Amino acid sequence: MSDICPICGLPKELCVCGEIAKETQKIVIKTEVKKYRKKVTVIENLQGIDLDELAAKLKRKMACGGTVKNKRIELQGAHAEKVKKALIELNYPEGSIEII
Ligand SMILES: [Zn+2]
Repeated sequence: MSDICPICGLPKELCVCGEIAKETQKIVIKTEVKKYRKKVTVIENLQGIDLDELAAKLKRKMACGGTVKNKRIELQGAHAEKVKKALIELNYPEGSIEII
């Protein structure tokens, strides 16, 4: 018996959920205001990548602090445009990045 995909119910070798996820994946960048009006830049919808590694790269580029929480990266400060640029430099297609 082969493994069954929990999303589509097909055996894993027939399942294309992973491929679909890649195609429809849109990285979302948004700015949230936290306690004491502190701004954080949140990057979410990152799938199949090492979040800690990407967070470290972005923190270095933005020269700011940040954490990985609930599968999203939170950077201290408002860096949405810069983060988008940085992701494009890291070979993420521009069309797959959305600032909201
Ligand atoms: Zn599936």
